[in-house]
Amino acid sequence: MNYKITNRATGSLFEARSQEPLLSASRRAQLHFNHSCLNGHCGRCMAELVEGEVSYPALPPVALEAEQSLPDEAPTGNRKILLCQAVAESDLTIIAREPAALKNIQTKIAQARVHSIEFPVDDVACIKLDLEEHKPLTYLAGQYLEVILTSGKRRAFSIANAPDDSGLLELHIRHVQGGGFTDHVFDQMTVGDPIDLEVPLGTFFLRSRSERPILCVTGGTGFAPIKAIVEELILRHEHSKESRPVHLYWGAQSAGELYQHDRVTQWVDELPWFSYTPVISNINGHSGLRLGWVHEAVVDDHPDLAGFDVYMSGPPALVDAGRASFRRHGLPRRHLYYDSFEFAPDILALMAQQDDAASGLTAAE
Ligand SMILES: Cc1cc2nc3c(=O)[nH]c(=O)nc-3n(C[C@H](O)[C@H](O)[C@H](O)COP(=O)(O)OP(=O)(O)OC[C@H]3O[C@@H](n4cnc5c(N)ncnc54)[C@H](O)[C@@H]3O)c2cc1C
Repeated sequence: MNYKITNRATGSLFEARSQEPLLSASRRAQLHFNHSCLNGHCGRCMAELVEGEVSYPALPPVALEAEQSLPDEAPTGNRKILLCQAVAESDLTIIAREPAALKNIQTKIAQARVHSIEFPVDDVACIKLDLEEHKPLTYLAGQYLEVILTSGKRRAFSIANAPDDSGLLELHIRHVQGGGFTDHVFDQMTVGDPIDLEVPLGTFFLRSRSERPILCVTGGTGFAPIKAIVEELILRHEHSKESRPVHLYWGAQSAGELYQHDRVTQWVDELPWFSYTPVISNINGHSGLRLGWVHEAVVDDHPDLAGFDVYMSGPPALVDAGRASFRRHGLPRRHLYYDSFEFAPDILALMAQQDDAASGLTAAE
């Protein structure tokens, strides 16, 4: 059975199949709703339900609970829903953000080949993919792609370069121990290997119409989409389309994990509008860099965030902590843009099943 979904915010209409998450259904219709983790955790796909009923048959809408403790800027009385997990139980009317800049972006399935692969530190691979007949690709700096595995499962990685004439897509891949795809990247991948993709995806991209100063906040390989955004800003500054100052906070456990620190310090030397604070969380290292959690460094330096645009990407723990903390420090929800690097939904569903089974065992013992 199909249900009709109407987005009152934009007038767009799409159909959702029974048991199909609303976000997946909108993607089939080439609509781009704000989203990130795809797991119900990060809250980026939060929308309002004006009419109709939804349920959450796969993963629970964890972000809705977290949202209750955060300041609500404009209460409307409508129920909040998470598009990545909610499935329709009737026709629906929703209010959801669809960034206008994505209107002309066409997502496609494409085959690429590995053009180069480098390991700047032990657990990060920087690979470049050649899109061959699909280039040049139209995308916005900050978006991500999905690698389609032979099993049909998908793994998300941010594109680490702004669009350019080379047609190459750069990825920064952190090795997840026991991770099917990243094990393959570190153990077997070689130049020339074919790789299937769906690209481009996501709603994390530079909002170029804003005039607010920019804070970029990232941890680990969360630097990848931020690098693309800074490259886009460099181009915009060169063409006098931009005058905003940009400050990057990059967090890591140790200085050695800041795998492109030299590139960033070069930006500091060359770009008068760009500044940088690396933040190290392992207080036993003697790096001479600032110590602590990266999101705390941001609010220590900027206790009032009301006037900023904040772009944040990286580990879910950082994104969750930053989201809560920045909102409490006055950052309006609509000026916080983020991608949360969650594991893929199939893996989180398996982990949830295992947790349920383990707690059942504990209860039975
Ligand atoms: C929008 C987005 C953008 C992202 N961008 C980036 C990026 O630019 N760079 C980056 O490094 N990461 C990024 N990520 C995160 C990346 O997608 C994940 O780390 C990816 O899922 C890893 O894939 P994998 O196949 O190697 O690991 P998986 O096979 O998915 O395994 C993940 C973990 O689950 C464990 N596991 C596997 N199977 C099971 C099981 N049956 N039961 C219990 N545990 C199991 C594994 O041991 C491992 O620890 C992004 C994520 C999102 C959502």
